[in-house]
This record gives sequence, structure tokens and C-alpha cells, in this order.
Amino acid sequence: MIIVTKSNVSEPELANIRQRVESLGLKTHITRGSHRVVIGCVGDDAALSEIPLLALAGVESVTPILRPYKLASREFGHPDEPTVVRIAPGVAFGGRAIQVIAGPCSVEGSEMLLETAIAVKDAGATLLRGGAYKPRTSPYAFQGMGEAALELLAATRAETGLPIVTEVMDTRQVDTVCRYADMLQIGARNMQNFALLAEVGRTKKPVLLKRGLSATIKELLMAAEYVMASGNQDVVLCERGIRTFETATRNTLDVAAIPVLKEETHLPVIVDPSHAGGRAALVAPLAFAAIAAGADGLIIEVHPHPEDARSDGDQSLDFAAFVDVMTRIGPFAEAAGRTMRAPSHERA
Ligand code: PEP
Ligand code: MN
Repeated sequence: MIIVTKSNVSEPELANIRQRVESLGLKTHITRGSHRVVIGCVGDDAALSEIPLLALAGVESVTPILRPYKLASREFGHPDEPTVVRIAPGVAFGGRAIQVIAGPCSVEGSEMLLETAIAVKDAGATLLRGGAYKPRTSPYAFQGMGEAALELLAATRAETGLPIVTEVMDTRQVDTVCRYADMLQIGARNMQNFALLAEVGRTKKPVLLKRGLSATIKELLMAAEYVMASGNQDVVLCERGIRTFETATRNTLDVAAIPVLKEETHLPVIVDPSHAGGRAALVAPLAFAAIAAGADGLIIEVHPHPEDARSDGDQSLDFAAFVDVMTRIGPFAEAAGRTMRAPSHERA
């Protein structure tokens, strides 16, 4: 941390600033300029958050030098090695292989779920998604089938072998969802629900952490830090589009977030082109862009009849459209130096 003083700082004010910083176990180094004094604070930066430094008399500005996320950062976490988050035998995020999570926005019944699972697996998906508890903008909209949906997801896993990813919205649901899911999704609207982050951090289930609608990359990494600081290191980050002034798309896919996150963190990064674009026609180009930019995977909404979907039908792909994306994405994966499970018609 670097503290710059006001130009008229007095000696007693300077002594007080130093004394407050040193009382937390840090050392101070003073550089006197012609007008101001620069105080370099050496030691545990995090401890300094206990002092409202800008409120101390004589302080002009405070600049942190180190990243506030430690476990999630490359700097302190793993400088060289990316983290590989294993979900099931042969299904891991962060290795060379791209993983595709696909399935309906909401679980609506057993037949549609099984039919979708078989279709997406055949097309190359390696995990099945499906919402049991849905965060809907309107309290009058379909809220999901709850535990009955979790049972259907588990039955579908038994039938197809696909591990399941589903959202947990509330700390009170964590135990129940853990009994069924292979990966816990924290939705965009809950990215800063710190109690929920800490609770999933106390489980042993891998966490899919979606970026908040208006969250910065730093805030996303701080949310991951919450999960990791509670003991769970298996976090996969998901860029799903952010709110901007643009109204032509549901959200704006922040493609640059992928390489920026890759620089900052060792955690795997995947992309949700469905919620980013908000329209089925945008899913393929956004998915291609994501893979080309270095994403470790995708999460895509697929429904047997998007026109009848109880949530997010506009952005859901039917089976043919999903096969088409999975077929056309191959060259992008190859160009990015990645491997991918090919659709069955292309497998030997
Ligand atoms: C979802 O995956 O269906 C969902 C609600 O996503 P998000 O939290 O990104 O809006
Ligand atoms: Mn959805």
C-alpha cells in the first residue's frame, strides 16, 4: 500500500499516520518530496483495511499494490499451474479439453429432461444443466420444480452418465442440492450473496460461479475468494454477459474478460453465450468467440421445443441447432489448441 499525503501535512499528522499503520504490524518507509510525503507500507496489506486511511488527517490518496484476492490469484495462488477442477471421471475444467454443459434453463419434467440429456450427450456435451430453483425477475413467473427437479436430474444422470450442474439460490437449499448435484451453480444475481458463497465454500462440491450482472472482474474474483477462503478450491468462473447501455442483446458478452481472467487467476473460465445474447441466433457466434478467446468451456441452454419452454425459450437452442454449434465449433477449439468431444456423427 502506498499512502500519499496532502501537501501541507504536518509532522504530528505524519507521525500519527505512521503510528496507525505500524500498530498493525506493518513497516513504513518515508520518501519526502518537495511538497508531499510518500509513505510505503510494507507487510500484510489486508490488515490495513481495518483503518479508514482516507479519514486520517493529512492523507491525500491510498493506492493498493497487491491484489485483494489471494487464493484466486496467480500471483499468490498458483503462479504457473492452472487449476483443474474435476467433476467426474473424464470430465474436468481447466485442462486441454473443453467441456460443454448443456440442457434446459429449467427442468420441466422427466421426458423433456431425458430427451435433452440424450441429445446433448450425443452432440458432445459432457455435463447436463437444468434449473430446479429459478431466480426469476417476476415473483409470478415459474420458479422451478424444486426438489422434484433434483430427483429427475439424478435419475437422468443414472440413465445417461452425464454429471449434473444446477443452481443453488439460498443457504437453506445447500444441503439438499448437494445430495443430488455434481456441481453447484451460483447464479449471476447471487454472485455477491456472501453468506451463500461461504456456505458452498464449506461443501466439497465444485462451484460454477457466474459473474454478476453489474460486477467487475475484480468483484467476480473476490466472490471466488469467498468460496475458496471457506475451504473449497474447486471454483469455475463463468462470464455470462453484463449490463451495458446496449439493448440489442439481453446482456453484453465481455469477451475481453476471458483473457483478463486468465491473466489474473489460475481458475478455469467458461462462457454462457445463451444468457449473454438472449437469442438463439446469437449463441453460435458468441460460443465461437468464447473458445477463440481462450475459454475452458461453455454452458448452453437447449430445449426440445424452445417455443414451449417455461423459461428462457428465446435463447434456447433446439437439438438441431445445438448439433450445428457443436459441429462448427471444432475448428475454433483446434485453433485455440484445445480438444473437444465431437458430435457422434463425427466420431469414428
Ligand atoms: C441460468 O443459468 O439459467 C441463469 C439464471 O443464469 P444467470 O444467473 O447467469 O442469469
Ligand atoms: Mn436461463
